[in-house]
Amino acid sequence: MKNVMTTMNKGKLADFLKSLASDHEMIVPVIENGNLLFGDLGSNGLATDFKGRPPVSPKEYMFPQKERIFTFDATDKVNVSVQAHLNTKKRILWGIRPCDLYGIKTLDTIYLGGYVDTYYQARRSNTLLMGLNCNQPCDTGFCVACQTGPFASEAFDIMFTDLGDKYLVNIGSEAGKVIADKYPSLFAAATDDDLKKARDAEEKCKQGFKPVVDAKAAKQKLPETWDDALWAEESATCILCGGCNFVCPTCHCFNIEDIAEDGKVSTRVRYWDTCQLGGFTQMAAENTRLAQFERLRQRIFHKYVYTPDKYGGVPGCTGCGRCIEVCPAEIDITHVLGRVTSK
Ligand code: SF4
Ligand code: SF4
Repeated sequence: MKNVMTTMNKGKLADFLKSLASDHEMIVPVIENGNLLFGDLGSNGLATDFKGRPPVSPKEYMFPQKERIFTFDATDKVNVSVQAHLNTKKRILWGIRPCDLYGIKTLDTIYLGGYVDTYYQARRSNTLLMGLNCNQPCDTGFCVACQTGPFASEAFDIMFTDLGDKYLVNIGSEAGKVIADKYPSLFAAATDDDLKKARDAEEKCKQGFKPVVDAKAAKQKLPETWDDALWAEESATCILCGGCNFVCPTCHCFNIEDIAEDGKVSTRVRYWDTCQLGGFTQMAAENTRLAQFERLRQRIFHKYVYTPDKYGGVPGCTGCGRCIEVCPAEIDITHVLGRVTSK
């Protein structure tokens, strides 16, 4: 559908979200003990005026860190009964930044684009995405270089832009329109002045980013650096915590485990895995990535070469900057990409 541009007075947002909470779980940015997080609207105060994004991405709500996927009962060894655990709870995520919307778009492409992951699909098809554009660059983000921010032009149901005393509200999907149509008194048509203010805010924010990396040039140069010493040098301080993968909005690898409950009934669980650990590639015969430099190289190639090449250009890295922030060894993806482009 064609996007519909409306506005909402800021004072009405809380009522709008509270009303939606009557039949949806509402996940919003909240401040808890001084930290910005995604959390439940019911038990926390809503954060609307914040810079950047929470340090942990919202992918947890579509692809949980740990998830019971099914239970099976092998009491009868011939007719094993299986019960899938599909989560179909209706949920709205509000306040998602553009980089994270593109992260979810990447997960959608991977988990729904070819082989359909039933568990991801159950959550995703019951989730509405309401984003909030960024009016100022965050500290470590480089979305401008990845073309995933600071404003989003797709990948949302409804998108909000802070214009001071009101929001420009961009309705981008049928599902978003169904919600907005239920509250006609909250929305007013956007004027040319509102649209201009939003364009100016986007331009101003873009100008505020330091040119830290040329993502396109890095993608082209990467294959030439396969045997370069930079991979060993950049990975030398890695302590194998896997934090870079766990906070990343696009990392999607998982492991599975069967947990026996009483000898007959077992539960299959899946949980996030990390390519930065040696065990990730341990197979019966051999381990295909023994050295840490191979694992860092894999992470960067996966983000900048394999994912966009395999999935029609979707971003493997959204430039959210979380992996830079979380790394205790101070490994900085923009520094690595800068070295790649300077070769
Ligand atoms: S990386 Fe860009 S879109 Fe993401 S929070 Fe920072 S400024 Fe916003
Ligand atoms: S690789 Fe780093 S900067 Fe890129 S999306 Fe993942 S966490 Fe964000």
